[in-house]
Amino acid sequence: MPKDQMERVKSSLIFRLTGKFSIRLLGIFISLDLLLILLAGGLTFLWASHLGEDISALVETHGVPGHRAALWMKAGQFQVKPLDHPPEGAFSFSSGRASSPDKETWWSFDPPILRLERITSQGRPYAILLDLTRLLRNLQMAAVCLLIWEAFILILHLFRNTRTLSHTLRPIQELAAAASRLGNLSSLSHQELRELADKLDEINSSHLDLRITTPSARQEMIALTDAINSMLERIDRAYQSQARFVSDASHELRTPIAVVRGYADMLDRWGKKDPNILREAIDSIRAEAVTMQNLVEQLLFLARGDNNSTSLQPQPFDLTIVAGQLIKEAQMIDSTHTFEGRWRDSMPISADLALIKQAGRILIDNAIKYSPEGGRILVEVRLQEGRAAFSVEDEGQGISSEDLPHIFDRFYRTDESRARQTGGSGLGLSIAKWIVERHGGFFQVVSRVGIGSRFTMLLPVESQSCQR
Ligand code: ADP
Repeated sequence: MPKDQMERVKSSLIFRLTGKFSIRLLGIFISLDLLLILLAGGLTFLWASHLGEDISALVETHGVPGHRAALWMKAGQFQVKPLDHPPEGAFSFSSGRASSPDKETWWSFDPPILRLERITSQGRPYAILLDLTRLLRNLQMAAVCLLIWEAFILILHLFRNTRTLSHTLRPIQELAAAASRLGNLSSLSHQELRELADKLDEINSSHLDLRITTPSARQEMIALTDAINSMLERIDRAYQSQARFVSDASHELRTPIAVVRGYADMLDRWGKKDPNILREAIDSIRAEAVTMQNLVEQLLFLARGDNNSTSLQPQPFDLTIVAGQLIKEAQMIDSTHTFEGRWRDSMPISADLALIKQAGRILIDNAIKYSPEGGRILVEVRLQEGRAAFSVEDEGQGISSEDLPHIFDRFYRTDESRARQTGGSGLGLSIAKWIVERHGGFFQVVSRVGIGSRFTMLLPVESQSCQR
């Protein structure tokens, strides 16, 4: 998303959220005001009825005041006037001066009078007129102050909310920006992938090491950014290993391609008529083609494994029979080593026969490659820790403790095996590991330099543990 578009989205989000907050606050204020009006009305009524009771008590003891006293009372907040008709009811409001309460209304802004009609025990009707002007003016003042305060709070909140929201949305904006940068990366990498694999490293280092900074003291954001950062970390690692895989694969293919080109050039220049050069070139090209074919098959196998498009075809079989077949196969292609099989009873398992054979072949092939001629290779099948163990032991060069943790990595070869030019690509053990793990098993390796190695694959005896 472009920056200005992101800003626009952010502003509209802030605008909408601030609007909603303000409307909510206004609603709270209005309901509070209504409550205060009701409260004020109730208190006024209480005050009036108490005052009315007090005045009635006075009238009862001293009688209805005369005309002169009424003039004095006018200066206060009430008046008591004799009536020439029987009292009509309890309370009523009237507008106009207390002295002329002829028009009766429930509410008036021009001095509101509360009128109370009573009759003394001697049977003299009178009216108490309570002047609410001062009280209402005070209430009016309080209401104006309250409204000004509310308006001030609303405006203050409007600004504060905008600032807080903008602050709160900043990390989200950062996340969006990072995500959009990653989005750019995907289009970039597509382009560059088409060009060549070595540029992938550059893309990884320039984009995927991106991390989002955690805003201070915002727990929910810290959790979110941590989650995204760890996701980025995983994507980064996956991308790096993918890039390494592609670059290693190209590197592995470069040598046989160079050899084939070299022979083609040689044939072109001198070999067309020389039968010796012709034979040598054909043999070498064939050998390199076989190497390339093996490598491409291994790469395809791993790629299919990574895509989860290799489905297992489990079937019940006896592991000891497979071990016997593998030994026979090995004896046919290699007469320089002594092969020995060791098992007591049959070992029934349920697994993908072809894949288990492939993993067994990789182990025997390595034992042949990395042990000297005349060496003994022992293939053993036994029950170990409740699992079916298939192990291949040789008396070869062994593996150092520094190399041991890496031998299952793709394209990893020890310096020694590189120097000996065994023709290996470093993919065999990673394929075997993938097969064993897909069957719910694992590897055990025991090795000592100069003494030999033992590779054991441990497979579940139960058929259910086989992952399809
Ligand atoms: P490669 O095709 O090179 O044999 P692998 O993945 O099968 O690839 O093996 C990886 C590396 O582990 C080998 O290059 C070799 O250095 C070491 N290795 C594997 N098996 C043995 C063994 N039986 N003895 C000594 N080293 C071994």
